[in-house]
Amino acid sequence: MNPYVHPITRLVHSTVRIECTDSAARSSCGSGYLYSFGRTGDAGIPCVVTNKHVLEGAVAGIFHLTLEKEDGSPDLGKHEAVTLRGLRGLSIPHPDPQIDLVALPIGAILNDAGKNGRKYHFVQLTANSLATTELLDSLPAMEEIFMIGYPNGLWDEYHNLPIIRKGISATHPKLRLNGKPEFLIDAACFPGSSGSPVFLANIGSYVDASGALVAGTRVALLGTLYAGPQHTTTGEIRVVDVPTDTKPIAVGQIPNNLGYVIHASELLVLEEAVLQAMKASYPTSRNSPCPCQSGKRFKDCCGVLS
Ligand SMILES: [Zn+2]
Repeated sequence: MNPYVHPITRLVHSTVRIECTDSAARSSCGSGYLYSFGRTGDAGIPCVVTNKHVLEGAVAGIFHLTLEKEDGSPDLGKHEAVTLRGLRGLSIPHPDPQIDLVALPIGAILNDAGKNGRKYHFVQLTANSLATTELLDSLPAMEEIFMIGYPNGLWDEYHNLPIIRKGISATHPKLRLNGKPEFLIDAACFPGSSGSPVFLANIGSYVDASGALVAGTRVALLGTLYAGPQHTTTGEIRVVDVPTDTKPIAVGQIPNNLGYVIHASELLVLEEAVLQAMKASYPTSRNSPCPCQSGKRFKDCCGVLS
């Protein structure tokens, strides 16, 4: 078997379609991705990262995970719905109320599945997935990007696979747009895209900082989509959160294909918050009670080996 897996083929297994229900039983849909915080070696705190506003008003949420075959490859077509327990238990918001990021620990889900003999196939992003300062510094004003998520809640339901969209950076991914840790992309950003990871997409070749054409592939996490400017049917332009796909839909606003993306470096701030929340047992003893108050040991709950 050819062991090479194209980075984008791998990364489609890093996202999840988050289906939420509010207290009036209305459903909505957003995007999120799997991220292992505080990762050292094989251990980390697996979480789903999404936007705070994706979960706003939600009382229940689920997402789907694909089962893994014996050879470690995804068993496409076989997937299960799992419950986002963080909605009722521990969810860890980015400490800055202006930064629309939240982490939901999912270790307990993965541990329970393991005990029942089920193994899921997924890819976790880590601090190593982030574009480095050096890489960001070397990028030109316009670069190709791709975004993975669930625009309008659309997906390949049979295979549990997301939708990939391609675009360009519309402002420099390194610069703080109007002083905020975010930049703009030019890509189709629809309701439901909220929480999608945005990656640098240098596939096959790219132009390096000295202007030389280099053969190779560079894929790195640039940030998380959270909002898009929309214009109303009367022509008024305003910036709104990329709404989650709530039914029934009664919007007279049209996305204008720009999206606001939170700098990936804010995940390092979120990581501090996650580690702080888990401080009681991480990383000194994996046998101590889990800080999420499940009553289980940390290593059997929010912290897993994976
Ligand atoms: Zn726990």
